[in-house]
Amino acid sequence: MPNISTLAGADLKALAQELDKLLAEYSTKPSVVFESEESRLAWVFSGPKRRKRAWEQSRPCMFPHCKTLAVTRSHTIPRAALALIAEDGHVLTPKFNEVRMRLEMQRIGINQASTFPGFCSGHEQIFQCFEKKVELQEDSSLHAALQVFRILFQEIVITEYGLASLKQTVEKHRAQVDGWGRRKLERFMRGRGLAPVKEFAISGVGPLARAEQTIADQVAHLERLRSQALEPFLAGFRSGVVRGTLLQHLVPGCLPLALAGHTDFRYMARGASTIDNVLVVMGLHPCSNGSFLMVWTPFENGGAAIDDYLRMYSANASESAGILHMIEAWMLSGSDHWYMTPSAWSSLSASERDSALGAISDVEHGIGNPWPPGALSRILLAWSQAR
Ligand SMILES: [Zn+2]
Repeated sequence: MPNISTLAGADLKALAQELDKLLAEYSTKPSVVFESEESRLAWVFSGPKRRKRAWEQSRPCMFPHCKTLAVTRSHTIPRAALALIAEDGHVLTPKFNEVRMRLEMQRIGINQASTFPGFCSGHEQIFQCFEKKVELQEDSSLHAALQVFRILFQEIVITEYGLASLKQTVEKHRAQVDGWGRRKLERFMRGRGLAPVKEFAISGVGPLARAEQTIADQVAHLERLRSQALEPFLAGFRSGVVRGTLLQHLVPGCLPLALAGHTDFRYMARGASTIDNVLVVMGLHPCSNGSFLMVWTPFENGGAAIDDYLRMYSANASESAGILHMIEAWMLSGSDHWYMTPSAWSSLSASERDSALGAISDVEHGIGNPWPPGALSRILLAWSQAR
């Protein structure tokens, strides 16, 4: 019986056409690989469960060379700080609902909010000096440095988990796609009296191609976070200095918000002709005498970039309005790791809430080209003046 490697003439041409048809079918309608709508939905719904299981598994402490298991819930933003903005022990955070396929605000208890499997109980002690301290001063640089340290670890853990989970999802989908393709091809071969195909794999088309690209991007991003941010920060930390440029500021009035994350600030230095991507770590930490804001970049000469960055927000507004607009930009285009007082969020109108969630989903905007001041700025201002 002729097999696939000895095909020639009309058989070979027909096979090439069959393969083109098969790839086009998967590209235009990826759900075709599922045997039924039920099996497609079962696959979709298994995603969140798999991710939750992975997140709850123990992993070693993130501190360099420590082999002890991490506690499963290390707080990035201290629980005592979250308690200052919580209502009935809860805050709201933006979360993508994978069943409804949309971004929503989710209610979360402050014991769970802003936690990740980070450090062992021994290394958790590093942060004890401010863990329960709720009054902070403008010059709390040790606090700001430790908080940057924790945010960096949190971002690495979240990215690692996201990547592992994406790889797992892609492999499951790949098996489904290959099985579907093989069955179709077998039918074709049988119809022409040809030997069945033993191995068949699809790559580089449809959702698989997009997922493969996302994996490559995430791997590169993780490497950059480690080499450009974490390693220089740790080197400085061991010798008691903060490398890079760290700015901290005590915003008066307790804002109904806590935030911890990182993003890229696309920035063109004065006189330069190219745009730099400056990695920025951002934090907003509620305290009893205000909101402690910190910005860190790994570059030693990042001061000019940060100055320009701040000037961008204060150019057409007072300094305090500029800072609130900057915080709003962090919420919409910088990090989705933020927590808000429930009644502050619900004081927005339904269309303002929809428009804020829509802005978060729009990846075209970054903190360097922010949306104009909007409803969140207004709420932050109202709260800062009321308290
Ligand atoms: Zn440890």
